Amino acid sequence: MRAVLDHVGIAVKDLQAALAFYRYALGLEVEAPEDVPSQKVRAHFLPVGQSSLELLEATSPDSAIAKYIDKRGPGLHHITLRVDDISAALAQLKARGARLVDEQPRPGAEGALVAFVHPSSAHGVLVELKQVVVTSRSSVTRYRVGDFELISLFDGLFRLDGGAMFGVVPKALWARQAPPDERNRILMAMRPLIVKGSRTMLIDAGLGDKDDRKFHAIYGVDRSRNLDHTLAEAGVAPEDIDIVLASHLHFDHAGGFTFRDASGRVKPKFPRAQYIVRRGEWEDATHPHERNRASYIADNYVPLADAGVLQLVDDDQTIMPGVRVRRTGGHCMHHQMVLIESGGRTAAFVADLMPTTAHLGAPWIMGYDLYPMDTLAAKKAFLTEAVETNMLVFFEHDPAVPAGYIREEHGKRRIVPAQS
Ligand SMILES: [Zn+2]
Ligand SMILES: [Zn+2]
Repeated sequence: MRAVLDHVGIAVKDLQAALAFYRYALGLEVEAPEDVPSQKVRAHFLPVGQSSLELLEATSPDSAIAKYIDKRGPGLHHITLRVDDISAALAQLKARGARLVDEQPRPGAEGALVAFVHPSSAHGVLVELKQVVVTSRSSVTRYRVGDFELISLFDGLFRLDGGAMFGVVPKALWARQAPPDERNRILMAMRPLIVKGSRTMLIDAGLGDKDDRKFHAIYGVDRSRNLDHTLAEAGVAPEDIDIVLASHLHFDHAGGFTFRDASGRVKPKFPRAQYIVRRGEWEDATHPHERNRASYIADNYVPLADAGVLQLVDDDQTIMPGVRVRRTGGHCMHHQMVLIESGGRTAAFVADLMPTTAHLGAPWIMGYDLYPMDTLAAKKAFLTEAVETNMLVFFEHDPAVPAGYIREEHGKRRIVPAQS
């Protein structure tokens, strides 16, 4: 086991006094606080080299931190070690007789897996193990919802301006959730979804490969692993797709609908498929204006009409048994989400209504959205529904978490990544 110090947790009773020491006397930088409602604690991180100090402040008298301080006074609470394989680390500790608080890893912040080792085994120190999960980033993940098999694919990574991705949210807040690069861009994935039921459907198709190098440089595109690889890994050939369904026609969703053949002609990528697009979105995409023009590239969808494989739908309706579309508007007037229902369970492909897990907060809405107040209304209604019905939610642009459940405790919402 190779372990790296991630952070040291310090229980504080008087936060202002603690900050007076750590921030002003020691001169350390304090990041924006993070609430952890399940632990009734507010965490303040102070980076120190490759590691951090974490000041832990109780937000309720029955918080574990409050009890700890009552019993032992403020001070060192835990240390967190980052490991490559947390399950292997736990097995090794157990085999050597260590007492574990968590026998199995559980989801921590930002999609990490964590587990605690009891202080009695660690000579008086509570030890947290943490595995940062990045291995699933580009993998194919499979989920079952009733009679459907849902396969989340991957069409590479790209980068968009972090400010534009979070609208009115200040950088001090979003940068903790989605760290920006030197050009202020954040990392995003493209994750189209296969729905295998009575027919085989593909929802969205990522960026595709018709774009030039300049375009790739602007958006920091990395498609070294892309839709072709992940379709093959999923065991689905382009000829197997019966229906291609568009959430909307922006280039990061519809780019893969077409390809350029050896003669330079642009053709539908899925030779047997009917392509289903909402009529209003088709009208908008074929008549762009100054504000949305950069998002629409005609070669991604006009060739579908020319090839006679385009089907326009006018309103919310069933696309195949168990699969229906619902207009959300907001991001663009006719943006739609997809609901997949079977055996009493529901999954939702929400596309740009909630592009990443960092967009959980209701006002965390993209600056790109044409009608942000419509996004707000649609998102609030959706979040309530997702919590109540335990919906499996797909995050099309999340760099690490393809799907998860939205849970609510004490009025605070969080996302629990789904196990595939
Ligand atoms: Zn979009
Ligand atoms: Zn998008």
